[in-house]
Amino acid sequence: MRIWHQLRWRIVGAQMLVVVVGVVTLTVTADVLATRSVSPALQPAFHDAVLRSLVVAAVAATTAGLASSLLLARAILRPLGAITASSRRIADGRYDQRVATPDSAELQAVALSFNQMAQNLEQVERQRVAMIGNVAHELRTPLAGLEGYLEGLQDGIVPSSPATFGDMRHEVRRLRRLVDDLQALSRVEAGQEQLRFSRFDLRDIARRVVGQLRPQVMDGCLQLEGDDDAPAMVFADPDRVAQILVNLVGNAIRYTPPEGCITVRLIANPDTVRVVVHDTGIGIPAETLPYVFERFYRVDPSRARSSGGSGIGLTISLHLAWAMGGDITAASDGPGQGSTFTLSLPLAAAGQQG
Ligand code: ADP
Repeated sequence: MRIWHQLRWRIVGAQMLVVVVGVVTLTVTADVLATRSVSPALQPAFHDAVLRSLVVAAVAATTAGLASSLLLARAILRPLGAITASSRRIADGRYDQRVATPDSAELQAVALSFNQMAQNLEQVERQRVAMIGNVAHELRTPLAGLEGYLEGLQDGIVPSSPATFGDMRHEVRRLRRLVDDLQALSRVEAGQEQLRFSRFDLRDIARRVVGQLRPQVMDGCLQLEGDDDAPAMVFADPDRVAQILVNLVGNAIRYTPPEGCITVRLIANPDTVRVVVHDTGIGIPAETLPYVFERFYRVDPSRARSSGGSGIGLTISLHLAWAMGGDITAASDGPGQGSTFTLSLPLAAAGQQG
């Protein structure tokens, strides 16, 4: 790198320029003053005194300028060097790298942003590793089941009956559902899901989903409230909204015992409309509530796995809601107290059609 391209020598150069300008100005001023105000007899002595003073001042200013500019350059370049070295190590995959916070406010801001970025990268990396582990874990269960059936069939221990093949198909369906969910998750998280926005009445979708899922509820205790109110027009993708509601109401059915009840209520506010899915089921402990939207999270892994849940339905739903300008929240008073999941979507603005 050319010397002039290095920040250290630029700072030194700037300081030296100030010294040179000072010396030249002083020389010229002293010269002008000598010719105007000092008698010719005294001029040689005056020039001599000025020259000596200038030499001393120039040496002192140059030393001070050099020392201060080198110190200043060091104060700037050290933290920048640390950031460069850390970013190289991060590029090599060592995500635990952080830099010390320097004294100056501006460099502090750079170091803090760098550390924040490093922390986010580390978290993403941790999630990626966890995701691979989770996928492997999820695949292992149905694959082990299938392997068991095949070995049993081969050894003649398991009868080759319709029931056996039915069980095997059940495992294959689980695998397929998992793969479909994973594909949907990767698309929705990458923001690649193609949404077809249109203006529609959310009540129609809620009515359809409730009608579709009612046969799954033993005593039919699945009610839609607020059905007679004014239309709740939203601008969103109706299929995706239905998908979210199927997930929320489906979960409510899955985690509510047969004697329990599920209510779906629509509440329209000035700007948003909320679909509140409330159940009287098993509830969610307060300490696990913040995690229910995380990928593969299940409050009770054994129970959910046996009922076929992959633990990514809510993650997909939340991303879909966000993509449509909405949100989903979860609430529960604790185990055995039921749960409430609320989907909110912005009401359609006057000009939104489609
Ligand atoms: P799953 O397919 O396992 O249901 P979800 O992402 O839809 O995956 O839900 C994540 C977890 O949140 C579930 O495993 C369950 O523990 C909890 N959960 C979701 N909905 C309810 C509900 N209505 N009542 C109790 N727990 C619920």
